[in-house]
Amino acid sequence: MQKGENGVAMVFKANPCSRADLSAMAWRVRKFGGCTTVKAFPIVEFIEHNLMDYCSLQVLDDSECDDNEAWTAPELGNIYVRNSVYEAAVNGNPRARFTLAHELGHRIFHTTSQIARCSIDEMVQLKIYQAPEWQADAFAGELLAPTRMISGLSISEICDQFTVSYDCARIQHELLQRQNLRSVG
Ligand SMILES: [Zn+2]
Repeated sequence: MQKGENGVAMVFKANPCSRADLSAMAWRVRKFGGCTTVKAFPIVEFIEHNLMDYCSLQVLDDSECDDNEAWTAPELGNIYVRNSVYEAAVNGNPRARFTLAHELGHRIFHTTSQIARCSIDEMVQLKIYQAPEWQADAFAGELLAPTRMISGLSISEICDQFTVSYDCARIQHELLQRQNLRSVG
């Protein structure tokens, strides 16, 4: 999710970005972190230690966060996360790890120069590849369980080895199958 300067959740459109673009950036991030052979990407350590000058992870008391698990402020580049989600991510909870990877996607792709607020008309016509939430989810899936690393694995093996949720593993597994079908056809 993203919030504007007044802290209110807003609808944005992003620069168009294909799944291949998002996948390429996710792999660059893994390379930057020295994680091209590490299966379970250390998302918390990566944001806290490798991105210190680029991205600040602010852990907030749950009482300050309403119902929000985490969000990114595009004008500041900060990622805010509620304490319980941060602790869960530190402890390897797949959903919390995905939440942080999703917010990192917003930080990389959705700074103020890369997105614009949407009018109602634009919102209706928004293409999926312009939707920041879709882009952040696709980036997170590729960062945590890159299709190039999951070949030959079952969905449950992807869950176990990459510390991702069943849904995330299933989507990445399907994407790989589609990629393989395209390369055969
Ligand atoms: Zn989001």
